[in-house]
Amino acid sequence: MLDHGGHLAGLNDRQRAAASHGPEGAGPLLVIAGAGSGKTRTLAHRVAHLLAGGADPGRILLMSFSRMAAQELTRRVERLLAGSDRAWPAGALCWSGTFHAIGARLLRENAGRLGLDPDFVIHDREDSADLMNLARHGLGLSSTEKRFPAKGSCLAIYSRCVNAGTPLPEVLADRFAWSLPWENDLKRLFGAYVAAKQAQNVLDYDDLLLAWAQAMEDESFARWAGAQWDHVLIDEYQDTNRLQARILMALKPDGRGLTVVGDDAQAIYGFRAATVRNILDFPKAFEPPATVIALDRNYRSTGPILAAANAVIGQARERFAKELWTDRAGGSKPQLVTLRDGRDQARHVAGRILAAREAGLRLKDQAVLFRTSSHSAELEIELTRRHLPFVKFGGLKFLSAAHVKDLLSVLRLRQNPRDRVSGFRMLQLVPGIGPGTAARVLDALEAAPAPAEALRRLAPPPRAAADWPALVELMTAPAGWPDLIGAARAWYAPHLDRLYEDADSRRADLEQLERIAAGYPDCARFLTDLTLDPPEATSAEAGVPLRDDDYLILSTIHSAKGQEWRSVFVLNAVDGCIPSDLGTGSEAEIEEERRLLYVAMTRAKDSLALGVPLKFHVTQQARFGDRHLYARRTRFIPDSILSQFEQVYWQDPPGPDEPADGTEAPRLDLRRRMRDMWA
Ligand code: ATP
Ligand code: MG
Repeated sequence: MLDHGGHLAGLNDRQRAAASHGPEGAGPLLVIAGAGSGKTRTLAHRVAHLLAGGADPGRILLMSFSRMAAQELTRRVERLLAGSDRAWPAGALCWSGTFHAIGARLLRENAGRLGLDPDFVIHDREDSADLMNLARHGLGLSSTEKRFPAKGSCLAIYSRCVNAGTPLPEVLADRFAWSLPWENDLKRLFGAYVAAKQAQNVLDYDDLLLAWAQAMEDESFARWAGAQWDHVLIDEYQDTNRLQARILMALKPDGRGLTVVGDDAQAIYGFRAATVRNILDFPKAFEPPATVIALDRNYRSTGPILAAANAVIGQARERFAKELWTDRAGGSKPQLVTLRDGRDQARHVAGRILAAREAGLRLKDQAVLFRTSSHSAELEIELTRRHLPFVKFGGLKFLSAAHVKDLLSVLRLRQNPRDRVSGFRMLQLVPGIGPGTAARVLDALEAAPAPAEALRRLAPPPRAAADWPALVELMTAPAGWPDLIGAARAWYAPHLDRLYEDADSRRADLEQLERIAAGYPDCARFLTDLTLDPPEATSAEAGVPLRDDDYLILSTIHSAKGQEWRSVFVLNAVDGCIPSDLGTGSEAEIEEERRLLYVAMTRAKDSLALGVPLKFHVTQQARFGDRHLYARRTRFIPDSILSQFEQVYWQDPPGPDEPADGTEAPRLDLRRRMRDMWA
């Protein structure tokens, strides 16, 4: 095995076989293995090894599930090469990113030959839902038919049809269990939605994959695209959908130069139409079939953590190929911490984290994971109260804050005057302009060959005559980048003050946005990046300045994929949360939730705890309204595997007004109640 420059050191035999697989242009390779077995590490070493062997970094396509994951992978490769005579300047691996971002770039660069306008604007899910809603209103499907699916559901159905390549009736029947009378109306609606996107020169997230996949059906384009890269490597392959697999197969029909890695036990994006079949069917998709390498040694977690995680996934309906082992002896069993309610859980977690920090563990080495973004609310309040800085991933994005969307709508409308979602938003910021007036203005812009000119000639709406000239000036005056965002911010300032009570903190966000914008060469690139991978919300927005750069990570389990921390706390390990659905989920959905818990548990290196609040606040269940439920420990930790955990009962120490424990019998003996629940 040739090791140019020692890039295979630090790998075990199987990892090394994967990293050095085949000579130049080798046959397809699949690395399928459990959590923490070094798949991502092996992938990084493989790229370093290829580069050290003379591969051209501009001809390597490296894809992962988030921009952050892709950047981390790239950094790892650069670190491996640093100091060798094959070191590359940062950015040499220029084709690294998410499927969607790579798709956007390819489509833009090749817009001419694909019949697209290169200035297309990308809509995020929220914009798409808004546009779907406009289309719905346009067809009169909302007001007359009360039971017609809500805008979010319409988009979900549409998205599933596109990503899974499944015909509408099938999606309606097996996924949404809705009766078919809506089929024709939905078809009309989706037709109108597509027409609206095209009229407005908009692509949505799904289009980035769909258009790429469709382009690949053209033989000459596919041949050209396939020839751009000698190696295509993909991490987390278990969470790709049919369109992504189609793109891949068309890029490298014989599989030469193709490497995919993943873990079928960690497939957690079925709800977004990802299919684990992609990874399972990969080996036999080629002739000769792909080389398959399985890794079974876990380097991440201590024995007791791995044993508990294995026990959880061992209960799955499906049998996964491998059971992991580790030689990381020592460490304690994961804790199952029973608490009174969410508030106690928040206090307990904050206390634990502080104690761990005092014992020498940095905040950065600790993470708190949860099923749904809103579940961290109580904890965020508690952390803010105790001045514990944190960064939250996968939560409410900075980008979806109303004032940020307002400002972006200005930029987007200026960039693309036919974008109606942005148009409605921006125009209605002006007092005196309502939906009717906005629609008339947008109709005029849409019909005009030169929208900027048309706007200048338009008569000012009577009730907004005073504010009209400033708006026209902003939309039409020549402006460089990033001056444009400065001008937009100045224009927006009085509206911000009028619209929001907390205008000060919102103004700070917009200044922050302008600073981010200044790092981009032009408006189009800025908007594309922001839409595809918006910055994360931090506690700076929650009022805690990030003084030092040690901060705690809060993350949804979905966004924590692929990462690891020394200490992990999982919130709300109760039924109704994991699994999230109170009994209505299909079996496939419940199984996906089990894998989600497995993903959460396998993020921990040294210490793991799961919270079981007995009183669990349920808000998202419309059926029950907003109320408390007495929760049960998640069904994924049944009695039969309870011995893998250490059980802890935690009650908040009494405050100054409460009797100290023991001085007086508590009216409700919750400790006992908690114990009894497991008896
Ligand atoms: P996941 O399924 O969660 O994405 P993974 O299989 O990609 O996990 P990695 O993140 O690559 O696993 O590796 C897990 C941890 O184990 C990392 O800290 C990595 O550095 C370490 N590791 C992997 N292989 C080895 C090895 N051969 N020697 C030492 N440490 C290793
Ligand atoms: Mg990984």
